[in-house]
Amino acid sequence: MGLKVLKFGGSSVADAAQLSKIKAIVEADPERRYVVVSAPGKRHSSDNKVTDMLFMLKAQADEFIPYDSLFETIKGRYTSIVDDLGIDVPDFDARFDEIRENVGKGASKAYIASRGEYLSAIMAAAYLGYDFVDTQDLIKFDSRGRLLFDETNELLSAELAKHERAVLPGFYGSYMNNGEVCVFSRGGSDVTGSLVARAANADIYENWTDVSGMLMADPRIVKDPLPIKKISYVELRELSYMGASVLHEDAVFPARMSDIPINIRNTNAPEDPGTLITNDEKELDDRIISGIAGKPDFTVISIYKNMMNKEIGFVRRALAVIEEAGVSFDHIPTGIDSLSMFIATSELEDKLEDIIEALNMQLRPDEISVENRIGLIAVVGRKMKRSVGAAAKICSVLAQNGINIRMLNQGTNEINVIVGVDADDFERATQVIYEGFVG
Ligand code: ADP
Ligand code: ASP
Ligand code: MG
Repeated sequence: MGLKVLKFGGSSVADAAQLSKIKAIVEADPERRYVVVSAPGKRHSSDNKVTDMLFMLKAQADEFIPYDSLFETIKGRYTSIVDDLGIDVPDFDARFDEIRENVGKGASKAYIASRGEYLSAIMAAAYLGYDFVDTQDLIKFDSRGRLLFDETNELLSAELAKHERAVLPGFYGSYMNNGEVCVFSRGGSDVTGSLVARAANADIYENWTDVSGMLMADPRIVKDPLPIKKISYVELRELSYMGASVLHEDAVFPARMSDIPINIRNTNAPEDPGTLITNDEKELDDRIISGIAGKPDFTVISIYKNMMNKEIGFVRRALAVIEEAGVSFDHIPTGIDSLSMFIATSELEDKLEDIIEALNMQLRPDEISVENRIGLIAVVGRKMKRSVGAAAKICSVLAQNGINIRMLNQGTNEINVIVGVDADDFERATQVIYEGFVG
């Protein structure tokens, strides 16, 4: 018999009605044996995600603001689901008491945030009649929060072998050195699902969410974008890294290592085939571009110095400065006498002044300029490799629409072209590029 690993996102566990859809999906196929769940998400647009409320709980506890009512609201999200389903979750109250006590004792932000998934998995396991398998001691991170891939794979496979069917919480594991909870970045339950799929040697990793797969552009920007039926792992990673938030960017890697296809599906429309992510070239679509994604908020630090190209080690010293500040860059286009660093504005926070000072000290440039609010758009497609003119087309549609290009960069793997535009032009640029290629 084959084996399928499923991950259900926040909206799929938001209330009892959603959980009953999960049960129907899981029970429709006996190969669906391991299920990873997120914390309950929004039930409607003005609702709160449990994870956001948990972060707020920690902030209140740290500031000595009374958090009892927030704790009760969070607990209420779970008890209303349990009551509406009419199920009994053994010791559920005691779990909340334990968490409340730990918050009172100064538990870490990661521990508190992780309880959303922990409680969700306990509840879903009881409802499905599956074992609950905690990931705290199975998914391991080094002391800097980087995933220890091999250790994790060994621990997870050994544990899964003991369970015919199980529900596991997404989003967290623990540090190798002290066993304390460590979380992935936001949306990280997708990564947990991929790790479980690899450890279980699954035939497929089904990622169940609230859209019928990946669309060629963000539906909040482009009206009714076409769905992507099939896409390669590399293309998907480029798109998710650049903001197509359907799947966490790090979720591709574990599944890809074992050639496990990923299928993005819709919990609210389970009959839709969704998007299949695979490396099987025969299976893939023929379109020149596979998708467009972007992020609106970058800061560009540009450094000018006459004869920069002759100064050995200039780029290295510039990069060392941002490395020391703990900041990572996205692109560094260079000219003969200039170099620009494109950095996500959220990375810089209060570090910008120190970085500029260090760059002045280390590089003695003629000038440094800083520009905020630059948007980057990635146009991704493995067929661009063998086709002439994709970049030219992007430039011409932007020119026709009076949009100024601030940067144009083609990745060396030739599967993406990155365009930089003013943040105010970001949405419009995405729309006209989409129309230019797809019509
Ligand atoms: P989950 O909670 O199930 O993990 P997410 O909210 O993380 O779900 O991801 C699904 C959302 O991603 C969709 O509701 C949609 O708004 C958004 N999204 C952004 N870009 C795209 C895209 N290119 N295709 C489909 N959905 C997209
Ligand atoms: N609940 C976590 C978050 O909101 C993880 C996830 O949903 O994947 O980021
Ligand atoms: Mg997600």
